[in-house]
Amino acid sequence: MSVDRRKFLKIAGLASLGLALNPSDFILMSPAEASSGKSLPSSGERLGMTIDVRKFKNDADYQRIIDACHSIHNVPTLIPEKNDIKNEVKWIWTDTYGHTFPEQINEYHPQDIKSKKFPLLCNHCDHPPCVRVCPTKATFKSKNGIVSQDPHRCIGCRFCMAACPYGSRSFNWVDPRPYIAKRDPSFPTRTMGVVEKCTFCVERLAKGLQPACVEVSKGAMVFGNLADAHSKLRRVLSTHYTLRRKPAVGTMPSVFYVIGGQDYAG
Ligand code: SF4
Ligand code: SF4
Ligand code: SF4
Repeated sequence: MSVDRRKFLKIAGLASLGLALNPSDFILMSPAEASSGKSLPSSGERLGMTIDVRKFKNDADYQRIIDACHSIHNVPTLIPEKNDIKNEVKWIWTDTYGHTFPEQINEYHPQDIKSKKFPLLCNHCDHPPCVRVCPTKATFKSKNGIVSQDPHRCIGCRFCMAACPYGSRSFNWVDPRPYIAKRDPSFPTRTMGVVEKCTFCVERLAKGLQPACVEVSKGAMVFGNLADAHSKLRRVLSTHYTLRRKPAVGTMPSVFYVIGGQDYAG
């Protein structure tokens, strides 16, 4: 076992015990709080993201953020044409406006919006139904808002997949390892029979880095603290009209989409 893998498993083990790993990023809820799926009183930090779809100009812009995520997280490439679609494993992907905002589309929206692709990932919801239904607490919410997934505690019941209104979770129907294009030894692989999803790059945040997709997005994605009124993230939110996915289900996503409005500096 590599040192990095050992370190990861130590972090995952501490996380599964609900212990504090880092004062700001990794203080976890108690099991009772985690299973409730409810927010704790403000910890002064709630991590979130904006995605400015106007800044995605071509397919390469989308592929760059997908590749950045999937390559460092050992996400297998199970091609739907070659494998059954249900086998697909994804942490970040794209879909149409109509599928992204089904309650918010109308026939008069500009054609360029209707034909645009939207990057999708786990929304790290403030009220995450996936956490509420997990019988083993393999998925849990941290005080900083990140909804994490511990593959070592996952029994593959897929209750979380049924509960997530966004299709943000993937199940490994087959052993994913043969389908990893180039394995990154610094991040653990998963096994057949477990669920996985975007983690908001918790392992990079621990090193003071931005999420990988944000880093390569050329300014189209902004990550930060929603609870900090002076953060760049809040500046983006206060100067643009944004949408969250499926507001009617009450999950309160932490991912916001910039659809239009004035540009922002810095
Ligand atoms: S998007 Fe889905 S998987 Fe992510 S926190 Fe919300 S309900 Fe859970
Ligand atoms: S599949 Fe895993 S993470 Fe999802 S609800 Fe079941 S045990 Fe929890
Ligand atoms: S935040 Fe990290 S884990 Fe989530 S989609 Fe972006 S790169 Fe992947």
